[in-house]
Amino acid sequence: MVENQVEARGVHDPRVLSAMLAVPRHLFVNEALMDQAYSDHPLPIGDQQTISQPYIVALMTEALELEKDDRVLEIGTGSGYQAAILAQAAFRVYTIERNRRLYSTARNLFDKLGYYNIVTRYGDGTKGWKEESPFNAIIVTAGAPAIPDTLVDQLDIGGRLVIPVGSLFSQELIRIEKTENGINEINLGGCRFVKLIGQHGWDHN
Ligand code: SAH
Repeated sequence: MVENQVEARGVHDPRVLSAMLAVPRHLFVNEALMDQAYSDHPLPIGDQQTISQPYIVALMTEALELEKDDRVLEIGTGSGYQAAILAQAAFRVYTIERNRRLYSTARNLFDKLGYYNIVTRYGDGTKGWKEESPFNAIIVTAGAPAIPDTLVDQLDIGGRLVIPVGSLFSQELIRIEKTENGINEINLGGCRFVKLIGQHGWDHN
């Protein structure tokens, strides 16, 4: 997976590659899908949600340019796989999930696998996690109609935010860096995510 899907497409950050070699992706999917866990596509995790394709996880993680002391906020815990990758590459991960079942399943898995530097929260992640802010990096793993100001506000100076932004059917992966003089924004290309539902995302219906 790492060689053929990630390195072959140009992700070379050693922190990202070693994290992807370390995390057992098959434990983050349903038993019936385990034989596909390392395949080159997203997989269903129930309730119409998905675990992202390995390459997308790698691309987004690389774009965060993580350092070992970084504190990272993730919106959309889902299976917990992306959070586990972040936990290998950074100091501490704060992850928020709005689906109660996915929240509990991921929480139990983190405990079982010994990911003690992942802090979980059940709720609407579009509001961020003010008490723990500012963050060095923020990753949103669901598609937003626009970049929530709440998240930009909770980014430290020098902090990076990666978020899919667009319509319900297709988005652009946007990377923002917050500087003393404002925001630098780049587009990393097209992507397709499930929707970000919440106060600063899409409505439930
Ligand atoms: N990072 C995940 C992929 C998750 S799919 C993984 O590695 O498996 C997107 C997730 O975002 C879904 O679980 C969905 O329930 C969640 N989500 C959508 N809107 C949210 C919100 N406002 N706050 C928190 N989680 C949200």
